[in-house]
Amino acid sequence: MEKCHSESETNLDSSVDASLNLQSRPDVQTCTYWKAAIIWEGMFDPRLYDEMHKMKGSSVALTVFAVGRYLDAYLHTFLNSAEQHFMVGLPVTYYVFTDMPEKVPNIKLSPLRSMKVIKVEKNSRWQDVSMMRMKSISDVIESDIRHHCTHVFCFDVDQVFTGRFGSEALGDSVALLHAHYYHLPKYFYTYDRNPNSKAYMETGDFYYHAAIFGGSWKNVKALTEACYQGIMEDKQNNVEALWHDESHLNKYMLLHKPSKVLSPEYCWDTSIGFRRDIQVTRLLWAPKYYDTLRTP
Ligand code: UDP
Ligand code: MN
Repeated sequence: MEKCHSESETNLDSSVDASLNLQSRPDVQTCTYWKAAIIWEGMFDPRLYDEMHKMKGSSVALTVFAVGRYLDAYLHTFLNSAEQHFMVGLPVTYYVFTDMPEKVPNIKLSPLRSMKVIKVEKNSRWQDVSMMRMKSISDVIESDIRHHCTHVFCFDVDQVFTGRFGSEALGDSVALLHAHYYHLPKYFYTYDRNPNSKAYMETGDFYYHAAIFGGSWKNVKALTEACYQGIMEDKQNNVEALWHDESHLNKYMLLHKPSKVLSPEYCWDTSIGFRRDIQVTRLLWAPKYYDTLRTP
């Protein structure tokens, strides 16, 4: 497994993976063809990762949006569970984006952890709420995050942490394998195949899930800016990518390969049922209530 890291000398996080001696696993793919690690349970020593990141002074911004009815439905459980499992031991700042700052639950945070609430407008279409996250994230990285945190992780709110989601997940550019597609042939991947969209792609490496992505603040800024630009160009051309921001994220990751890939342990859907390769679940999909949550 020592070779499963980027050869680039400037890629600090990949050199961390190399020096921490990631193990392989015989039953799953643990390395991409461009030599990024795919992180599964059993491959890493959590203590070594935590020590290394403490030594390096890593600090993490977690961004999450709770706009409209999503706030009451999910935010409290999301934040409470993040306190139990997300990057425990490292400095974490939650950036909560909402149209109702006064309704953000008052959660007791552990030492080294803080929260910033950012007011955003509520777009009337849920697709726009989802897509416009790219713009808000890139703005806040520029105005705030870049001065305080080394890394950024961006999350959907409709999920619950259930196990360690730790510093092994930190990287220069991090993408997540979608739980419903990781075992399927590429033929099934739902990329945007409309040549008029900026997200257009015929085939790619994996199908990434936009519910989680991350990286150094610099890389997440570049990613969110590029996706936002693609989304706005599509609007000018009167097209919308099949899966909105997720389609643009997949296109970006095709052109800019992630330095680390997270297995679906990091965002599992229990409705899939038992899978031998899923030995732990670190984050679970919460129930979707589209009928009530997505009506304006
Ligand atoms: N979101 C929100 N309010 C909305 C729609 C979306 O806050 O009205 C945010 C929320 O963080 C949500 C994310 O955008 O998790 C993506 O939307 P959703 O989870 O419904 O998409 P899906 O997981 O079904 O692709
Ligand atoms: Mn979601």
